[in-house]
Amino acid sequence: MNSRTNHSAHQTVILGGGFAELFTAIHLSKKGYSQPVVLIDTEERFTFKPLLYELLSEELSRNQVLPPFEKLLHGSGVKFVQDQVQAIDLPNRGVELAKGGRYAYNHLVLALGSVAGDFGIEGVNENTFPFRSGKNAIALKNHLRSGKNAIALKNHLRNRLKQATRTPDPQQRRYLLTVAVIGAGPAGVELAATLGDLLPHWYSEMGGNPEEIRLVLMNRGSQILKGDINRHMRPSARTALKKRSVPVEFLLGASVSAFTPQRV
Ligand SMILES: Cc1cc2nc3c(=O)[nH]c(=O)nc-3n(C[C@H](O)[C@H](O)[C@H](O)COP(=O)(O)OP(=O)(O)OC[C@H]3O[C@@H](n4cnc5c(N)ncnc54)[C@H](O)[C@@H]3O)c2cc1C
Repeated sequence: MNSRTNHSAHQTVILGGGFAELFTAIHLSKKGYSQPVVLIDTEERFTFKPLLYELLSEELSRNQVLPPFEKLLHGSGVKFVQDQVQAIDLPNRGVELAKGGRYAYNHLVLALGSVAGDFGIEGVNENTFPFRSGKNAIALKNHLRSGKNAIALKNHLRNRLKQATRTPDPQQRRYLLTVAVIGAGPAGVELAATLGDLLPHWYSEMGGNPEEIRLVLMNRGSQILKGDINRHMRPSARTALKKRSVPVEFLLGASVSAFTPQRV
C-alpha cells in the first residue's frame, strides 16, 4: 500500500465540491455523522454558478461568488483536500490523487459534475467562450500572473470594445460590437440580459456610442426557456430582454452548424 495512504478505517470520502457534494458534507456535519468526512476538489474555491453573472458584472465580489472551501467548511469537522482525483480503486476502497496521495474510504460519495457539451459543432471549442466557472467569466489574478486563461470572457469583450473605440470604419466597428449568445435556456437568457446592460455601460465609459452595440440571442428551438422549470416566465423574460440598455435581438429556430473566428 502507498506510504501516503490516509489509513483511517472508517472514513467517508466525498469527491468533488459542487452543490451536490458540499451540501452532502454540510448535511452530514449538521446531523452529527459519526465518521470522519473528507471532501476533495481540484479547486481551492467553491463556485456558486448561479451568481457567475454578478461576478462578471462586478456586482458581487470574488469572495462572495467563489468562497474558499476552507472557509465554508470551517467548524464543520469536514477535512478539505485540494487535489485532483485520478483513479478510484473500488476493490481496495481507495481514491488516488494527482499529487500522489491516496485516501482509504468505507463510504464514497461521487459527484464530480459535468463538462460542457459541444454537440460536435465545428469550431466550437476554438471560437467560443464557455461560461461555467470563475476562470471562464473573469481572468483571476493568479491566472493572469501565470499567463493561463488570460482570455476569459470579460477580458475578451472589453478588448473588443476598446478596439472598436479605435476603429473608424463603421462596418469593422459593427463586427467588433456584435455579440452572439448561443442557446436560450436559462443560462443563455440570463447571460444575454446581463450583457445587455453591461456592454453599453463598459462601452460608454470607454467613450463609445452604446447604440452601436448589437446583442443577438440565438436558439435552435422557436421558443426561449423551452422545457425549463421557469418557462411560465417566458413572456416577462422576453419583455425584460427587450428592455435592456441595448435591447436583445432574437434569432429563433436557428440551428448553429459551425463557428469560425468571424462568423456563426
Ligand atoms: C452560469 C450557470 C448558472 C446556473 N444557474 C443555475 C440556477 O440558477 N439554478 C440551478 O438550479 N442551477 C443552475 N445552474 C446549474 C448548476 O450550477 C449545476 O446543476 C450544479 O452546479 C451541478 O452541481 P454538481 O455538484 O453536480 O457539479 P459541479 O457544480 O460541476 O461540481 C463538480 C465539482 O467537482 C470538481 N471536480 C471535477 N472533476 C474532479 C476531479 N477529477 N478531482 C477533483 N475534483 C473534481 C469540480 O472542480 C467541481 O467543483 C447554473 C449553471 C451555470 C453554468
